[in-house]
Amino acid sequence: MNKHRIDPGTKIDLSEIDPDDTPLADKKSEAKKESEKLVDRLRELQELLFAERRRKVLVVLQGMDTSGKDGTVRHVMSGFNPAGVRVVSFRKPSPDELAHDYLWRVHAQTPSAGEVAVFNRSHYEDVLVVRVHELVPEKQWRERYQQINDFERMLVENDTIVLKFFLHISADEQRKRLQERIDDPTKRWKFQHGDLDERKLWKDYMKAYEDAIEKTSTAWAPWYVVPANAKWYRNYVVARTIAETLDSLDMSYPKIDLGDVKVE
Ligand code: AMP
Ligand code: MG
Repeated sequence: MNKHRIDPGTKIDLSEIDPDDTPLADKKSEAKKESEKLVDRLRELQELLFAERRRKVLVVLQGMDTSGKDGTVRHVMSGFNPAGVRVVSFRKPSPDELAHDYLWRVHAQTPSAGEVAVFNRSHYEDVLVVRVHELVPEKQWRERYQQINDFERMLVENDTIVLKFFLHISADEQRKRLQERIDDPTKRWKFQHGDLDERKLWKDYMKAYEDAIEKTSTAWAPWYVVPANAKWYRNYVVARTIAETLDSLDMSYPKIDLGDVKVE
């Protein structure tokens, strides 16, 4: 499974990772069936997590516009009990958020015991869009890689499982998906004119992603670079990675001794 996992210290050249690749699945139809099973398994695992109320799970989703962050949330979380899961979308920081350090708003949204939090964008924007648009001086964003590693380590040392996914699409796939958003009246609401300006900065974003993934894929909070041109493959890999990680925790329902209580 660790095929898409980035080991610490690995050099990343995104142009060498094919967004169309599907190395963990032979057939679309089989992977789709397998995904359904994984979603069921995830439902059970979430129930256990919730019952244990000890560990916390943080899933970070990053990727360019149209890379499928929302679609992944819809698929992977479809079986979850809404009481135990929270999806948080990070947008442009408010003046109040900007008046604090960049991790302030992020820390406030981290999962509590028994909870799964899914970040649709995250603190990584602070070394991506912030870098590409030079929103802070270089020295300041460079210092953030280490700060992010330290922050995530602190979360992990406090019983959080951190999984980070970069949904890797090609520039051509983005062109198609943006055009679809424009052409389809039911998708037009997702389109923002700014998306076209960001698209022009594709190369800069790839460089920023390469550095971010390289510098923050750690033993405690690994990155997974998921080929995401095929939606079925993206869903399969993310569901499988989360399920396998939670499975490996060997969670069990709390043992509660009630003696011989009888309900009259
Ligand atoms: P969307 O995910 O399409 O709703 O767009 C959210 C926008 O907020 C994206 O353009 C992000 O780059 C932007 N954004 C998120 N976090 C930050 C941040 N820390 N600083 C600046 N822009 C951000
Ligand atoms: Mg957008």
